[in-house]
Amino acid sequence: MTLGGCRKPDLGGAGDGRFGVVGARDVRVLLVDGERDCRIRIDSRFTVRTRSGETRLSGGPVGWTTLAAGGRGVMLGDKSLGSGPVEIVPERSGSIRLAGRDSGGWSADGRYPGILRVGVPDSRGLQVINVVDIETYVACVLPGELFPDFQREAYRAQAVAARTYVLFQMARKASSEYDVDSSQRSQVYPGLPSGASADRAREAVQHTRGIVATWAAPGGERIFCTYYSSCCGGTTQAVTNWRDDSELIPPLNGGVRCDCQSAAGGKRFFWGPVRLSAADIAAKLPSQAAKVGRVDAIEIIDRTPVGRAKTLRLTGSDGRSVTMMSETFRLAVGSMKIRSTHFTVRRDRDGFVFTDGRGFGHASGLCQWGMEAMARRGFDAGSILKHYYPGMHLTRVY
Ligand SMILES: [Zn+2]
Repeated sequence: MTLGGCRKPDLGGAGDGRFGVVGARDVRVLLVDGERDCRIRIDSRFTVRTRSGETRLSGGPVGWTTLAAGGRGVMLGDKSLGSGPVEIVPERSGSIRLAGRDSGGWSADGRYPGILRVGVPDSRGLQVINVVDIETYVACVLPGELFPDFQREAYRAQAVAARTYVLFQMARKASSEYDVDSSQRSQVYPGLPSGASADRAREAVQHTRGIVATWAAPGGERIFCTYYSSCCGGTTQAVTNWRDDSELIPPLNGGVRCDCQSAAGGKRFFWGPVRLSAADIAAKLPSQAAKVGRVDAIEIIDRTPVGRAKTLRLTGSDGRSVTMMSETFRLAVGSMKIRSTHFTVRRDRDGFVFTDGRGFGHASGLCQWGMEAMARRGFDAGSILKHYYPGMHLTRVY
C-alpha cells in the first residue's frame, strides 16, 4: 500500500488521556445494555477493580457463571462486586467469554480481549463495555465485516476504513460511556476471531498499523467518518441523502461508479420482492403510527440521481401523513428485509410490496463488494480507498 501525504491530522480530541486506566488508544465497545444478566467465563486469573483502582475481588479461572444486575450493583455468580462500575481485568494475554441474549446486535458467544467495564447505570440493567486496544479491535472487526476468502488488499482497505471510523467515533463520543456498539450500527465486532479470516485480518492490521483516511478540510488535514456498506447497487450515494446530521465533504459526496455486481453476484446484488404488512410497519414505527394511524399509502416523494428512494410519505387511512427519510424507514422496519433504499413500493391487500431492490446497506463511502471486485482485478488498498473516498489521503497517525 502506498502512503500518501503524512501531515499530522487534528483528531479532534481523541487520545487526550481520558482512557487513563488502560491506555490512550483504547476503544470502548458496548456489548450488553439493559439486560438483567448474561453468562461469563474467565479463562485466566483475573482482578475486579473499581475505576479508581481499588481491588474488589481477585481469583483464578471461572467457568461459565452469571454476570447479573443485582439490587446493589453487579453480581458475578454469587459474589457481589459492590455498587458502582467495576472493571474485570484478566491476566495478561487472558480473555473473557460472554454469552447471552441479543441486546441490539450482540447475541451469540464471543471471546473478548482487553478488559470488561461492568455497571448498572440508572438501574437500567446490566451494561458491559469492552475496553480494547484499537489495533486489536480492528483485527476483530475485519472477520465480522468481510468473508474469509476476500482478497488481501480488500482486508487492508477495510482495516484503514475501520480504524478511521472508530477514531472518528472516539473523538465524537469522548464524553459518552462508550464509543461504538458491536453491531452493524457501528461496526460488527464479534470478539477475537479464529481461522483463515483471523490470519488475514492480523496481516492487514499489521500492514496498515496507524494509517487512517484524511481529507484536506479548510482548517487542515482531518479524519472523517469513513462510512462503508456491503453493496452499493452500482453507484455510491451522498451521505446527506440518508443522514441529515452529516456534513457533505468530498470523500462522502457519492456518485462513484462501482462494479460490486461482478463480485457479489445477482443473488446478493438484487433483492425483493419483500412484503410488509401495515401492522408490521405500525409496530416498527410507533411514533409515526401514533401520528397517522394505520398506514394506508407509502409514496416515494423524491429520489436521488441514481433512483434511490430518498424521502417517503406515509399516509394513514384518515388522510394524515408524515414524511421520513427512506433510510430511517428501512432501518426501523428491518434492514435485513429492506436491504437498501434502492426500491419501488406498491400497495398490496393489507400491506406493501417492495420490489426492484438493489444493493445492501446505505451505499455511502466504501462498497465492500466493489472493494473486493477491485482487489480481484489487482488494485491495492490505497487505490481502492481513493476510488471510494474521492480526495482522501492516507495519513499515518501513530
Ligand atoms: Zn458497489
